[in-house]
Amino acid sequence: MRLILLGPPGAGKGTQAKILVEDYGIPQLSTGDILRSAIAAKTPMGLAAKEVMDRGDLVSDTIVNGIVSERLDAPDCKPGFILDGFPRTIAQAEALSTMLKEKSMELNAVVEIKADVDVLVQRVVSRGKEAGGRADDNEAVLRNRLEVYNQQTAPLVKYYADKGQLKSVDGMEPVETVTASIKAAIGS
Ligand code: ADP
Repeated sequence: MRLILLGPPGAGKGTQAKILVEDYGIPQLSTGDILRSAIAAKTPMGLAAKEVMDRGDLVSDTIVNGIVSERLDAPDCKPGFILDGFPRTIAQAEALSTMLKEKSMELNAVVEIKADVDVLVQRVVSRGKEAGGRADDNEAVLRNRLEVYNQQTAPLVKYYADKGQLKSVDGMEPVETVTASIKAAIGS
């Protein structure tokens, strides 16, 4: 199963990805998580990404495309993977398409988790206030992340719909209901 989870910050991509990882035995590839590990480890890539991420802007396509291409070559991705937070721009989607062709891999589906903006703001701001919360989960940065999403990432909905690969689920339902909708949408 090769899956992309698409949706605004706080829609529940990470939560759903973690459940699907357990159920399907395939890894979650979260570019956000990989970048946050690089920041924690103070690698050159992490140092370059930190400021951009703290503002809620997008890290360069070159960096994230490289992360994903390398990650897809790991043996645990052989049976499949769940992409969470990538692609985030049309250019990244085009790069992904090229990568997958080169690696002889095919996507099974792109699942859009639809969410209501006001609920997202509440969800994410309370996530930021929790112990160990993320630096970019405060209201001002979140507003920027939502704007970046609307401008750069939302066009992917049409992009994948035009390719006939898009499935949409309602992300405002309880977690288990969203999981069931995703499984129904991908037909397994
Ligand atoms: P969320 O979905 O809640 O916004 P993520 O963990 O997916 O959180 O991403 C956090 C930040 O990491 C983004 O705001 C961005 O700066 C950076 N990032 C993650 N994935 C990408 C990507 N594919 N392209 C560019 N930047 C990315």
